[in-house]
Amino acid sequence: MNTKQQDKKYIMNTYGRYDVALKSGKGCYAFDEDGKRYLDVSSGIGVNSLGYCDDGWVEAVTKQAASIQHMSNYFYCPQASALAEKLCTLTPFSKVCFSNSGAEANECAIKIARKYSYDKYGDGRNEIITLENSFHGRTVTTLSATGQDIFHNYFFPFTEGFKYAQPDIDSVKSLLSGKTCAILIELVQGEGGVNILDKDFVLEIRKLCDENDLVLIADEVQTGVGRTGRLFCCDNFGITPDLITCAKGLGGGLPIGLCMCTEKLSDVMQPSTHGSTFAANPVVCAGANYIIDTISDESFLDEVNKKGAYLREKLLSVKGVKSVRNLGLMVGIELESGDAHDIAAKCVKNGLLIITAKNLLRMLPPLNITYSELDEAVEILNKTIQEG
Ligand SMILES: *Cc1c(COP(=O)(O)O)cnc(C)c1O
Repeated sequence: MNTKQQDKKYIMNTYGRYDVALKSGKGCYAFDEDGKRYLDVSSGIGVNSLGYCDDGWVEAVTKQAASIQHMSNYFYCPQASALAEKLCTLTPFSKVCFSNSGAEANECAIKIARKYSYDKYGDGRNEIITLENSFHGRTVTTLSATGQDIFHNYFFPFTEGFKYAQPDIDSVKSLLSGKTCAILIELVQGEGGVNILDKDFVLEIRKLCDENDLVLIADEVQTGVGRTGRLFCCDNFGITPDLITCAKGLGGGLPIGLCMCTEKLSDVMQPSTHGSTFAANPVVCAGANYIIDTISDESFLDEVNKKGAYLREKLLSVKGVKSVRNLGLMVGIELESGDAHDIAAKCVKNGLLIITAKNLLRMLPPLNITYSELDEAVEILNKTIQEG
C-alpha cells in the first residue's frame, strides 16, 4: 500500500488532505515522495517558524534528544525553566504553565481565570465572554469557547459558561453580568479569516476588564512568537492581557503550548490543580529556546514586519486579488471571485503550499523566508489565479 492508501484505510477520516505526501524539507521548501519540490508559505499552519530543519534548531533538538529525552514532572527540567525565565524576562508576564498544544494552553487559561474568580468571589462567577468567529481549539471546553455554531454539534453536552459577543464593545457589555469572570479574545482571528481586531475595541476591553476585575485572556496560539512582527501580538495593541496562551510557532515544529500570567494571577494554581505528563519536554523546550533566542531579536522582528508589508504590496498587484489583510507575516487574501479552497488546491499542484481560512487564502510563511522566496510565492499564486 502507498501512503495515501494506508492513510485512507487506517487513519480516522478527520482531515481533508491535499493530494501530496511530504517526505522532507529544508528552509521554505518541502519535497514529496516523488521528489517534487514545493515552496511552503503555510509553515504547517504557522508551526515551522524557521522553516524546515533549520540548522541551529536541528542541532539544539538532536543534542537534547541524545542527552535526556523526557523526565517526569517530579523532577526539575533545566530546558523548561530556562525557557520560562527567557519568556518572563522578555515580556510583562511573571509565570508560565506548559502544555502540549494550543487547546490545552487555552484549557489552562480558562481554569486559571475561573479559579481566580472562585478564590476571590466564590461560586457562580464563572462565565467567559468570547467573540463570534473565534477559534480556540478542539477539546470539548475549547469548542465551547469557540464562537462558531458549526463547532457546537454532536458532542453534547458542551462545557457551560461561554457567551459570544460581536467584536464591538456594546455587544460585549450586553453580555456582562455578575456571573462574568473573564474575556477571551484572539487579537487577530486566524481560523475565522484573519480578522484584525480594532485597536480601540481592544483597549476598551482592557478597560472593561480592569473596571470589573475580569481576567483578560489573549489566545495567541497563532499570533504569538513573532508571527505578527512583535514577539507577541499584544505588543501591537499596546495592552497586557492577564493571561496569554501560545503554541503553534513556539516549538519550531515540535508540540508545545503554554499559558503565561501576570503577577496578579501567579499564585492561583497550586499543586494538584493542573498538570500534564508530556508538558515541558526537554527536547521540545530545547527547540523552543532556540526559536525564542532567534525570533526575539529586534532586527529579526523588524524584518518580519518589512516582509509582511512587502508581501502585501506584491499581492495587491495580482489581478484577481480583492484585498489583503495582514499583521506581520499573518496574511489573509480575499479573492475577487472563485473558491479559495479550489485555488489553494491548484496552487499546491503548481508547487506552492498555501492554506485557507473561511473563503480567504491564508499565508503564514516561515518568519525567515527571503524576499526572493516571497516573489516566487506571489508568482505561483498569480499564475494559478490567471489559469482560473
Ligand atoms: C490552532 C489554534 C488553536 C488550537 O491549537 P491546537 O494546538 O490545534 O490545539 C487555538 N487557538 C488558536 C487561535 C489557534 O489558531
